[in-house]
Amino acid sequence: MLLLSLLTLIWACNKENNELVIEAEPQPDPIVEQEVSSYSGVDPLLWEYFERFEEEGRERGIEMDLRAKKITGIIQSIGEDDVAGQCNYNSLRPNHVIIDQDFWDRASVQAREFVVFHELGHCDLLREHRESAFENGTCQSIMRSGLGTCRDNYNTRTKEAYLDELFDPNFANQIP
Ligand SMILES: [Zn+2]
Repeated sequence: MLLLSLLTLIWACNKENNELVIEAEPQPDPIVEQEVSSYSGVDPLLWEYFERFEEEGRERGIEMDLRAKKITGIIQSIGEDDVAGQCNYNSLRPNHVIIDQDFWDRASVQAREFVVFHELGHCDLLREHRESAFENGTCQSIMRSGLGTCRDNYNTRTKEAYLDELFDPNFANQIP
């Protein structure tokens, strides 16, 4: 319940139980999505990020299958200031990623990847937030809540280390 109060700060996101049901079927565009395979129930704009997430996990020895887990995703207005993404779930339906439309429209590819990977960190890897900071004040994890004091530092130079941390089984919270 505490988590629910954390919604309003920048980059914040939450897990919340709800009854939201979205059955949007993707409309594959063979011109735009040449090499990217489809994910049922996922906005085609998110496919390349879902695929990259799986690839990054596999490169680190993790079995990845977002389709089998029926993880869905859409881009829509979340309508709360500074919330870029959410992972929603309930006991009856699988995890569902929502990326804020306004954020998406103005974000770089890297910032989009950061937020999609963060939400899949919740939805797929079942990770909770981790606020640890390095001595220089930068975050140790992209799973930071955005409410702590660490600074994001996800860029081409640091990305590999952040993804090593993201997929590190020691931080996962897998439910047997
Ligand atoms: Zn989060």
